[in-house]
Amino acid sequence: MSTLLLNKIDDVKSNIKNWKKDNLTIGLVPTMGALHRGHASLIKRAKEMCNKVIVSVFVNPIQFGPNEDYDKYPRTMEADKKICEELGVDIVFAPAPSEMYGQGGKLSNNELTFVCPPYNLTDCLCGKSRIGHFDGVATVVMKLFNITTPDFAFFGQKDAQQLFILKRMVKDLNINLTIIPCPIVREDDGLALSSRNSYLSKEERTWALSISKSLKEIEKLYKQGITDCSILFDTALSILDKNLEIEYIEFRNFDTFEEVKTAANNTLAAMAVKAGKTRLIDNIILV
Ligand code: AMP
Repeated sequence: MSTLLLNKIDDVKSNIKNWKKDNLTIGLVPTMGALHRGHASLIKRAKEMCNKVIVSVFVNPIQFGPNEDYDKYPRTMEADKKICEELGVDIVFAPAPSEMYGQGGKLSNNELTFVCPPYNLTDCLCGKSRIGHFDGVATVVMKLFNITTPDFAFFGQKDAQQLFILKRMVKDLNINLTIIPCPIVREDDGLALSSRNSYLSKEERTWALSISKSLKEIEKLYKQGITDCSILFDTALSILDKNLEIEYIEFRNFDTFEEVKTAANNTLAAMAVKAGKTRLIDNIILV
């Protein structure tokens, strides 16, 4: 079967109706497109676990702040479709913003029902600078869940805070599906794959290599028994290239999302930095 490219919610729903009649399991991989090997790893996992796989490609306007890169976010639909075909995806769902949110730009929470994750999960890490970002993410993912009714939904550890928040949403709102976390895919030199890496100049990319280096060093020290997060923080700071603008380096318990001063197994060490105008995030879970 070839990959169907669908833009309309009703067309997706009618395909799913037929799959459900045949008791087929459905996997959903939500993306914003500009697909790379990171996305491909999620799709491959979905193919292993599910009878049918839907990849959504949607640059979601309500998760971008007014000064963020919504307009210039890379859009590479042709290449994305090809990758999905090669991976045996059943449906690529690529709606226009008007299909998701109606005509007339009803994009604010004055006019649109939003899903708002708990404040203690959104007032830290990326949520601190990206006000309303996770409300936008939770809202679009909830809509995608309702449209596609998946048994499994696949999310990358790369966006660790997003993953944590969405797992909580599924639990708090009794959504009948399982979230499958997938490991971070990196370039050979350690840089975590991201659609935004295409913004980086050669020089900025060199600076960005210090991000994964600093996380590796945190991991190394932790394995040697150093658990004081202020030492781990200072070590990361000393390794990060001086040209990077550091937004945060935080340590959180990945079971509770509480900030920790002493690292332990399942501590998330996460950071966001800017290389020039490009915002990059990366993290590691200590074990
Ligand atoms: P995005 O298109 O950036 O919204 O990402 C869509 C999904 O792919 C999210 O669940 C991301 O966490 C995941 N993802 C993005 N980059 C990577 C990566 N390098 N490794 C694994 N998963 C990733």
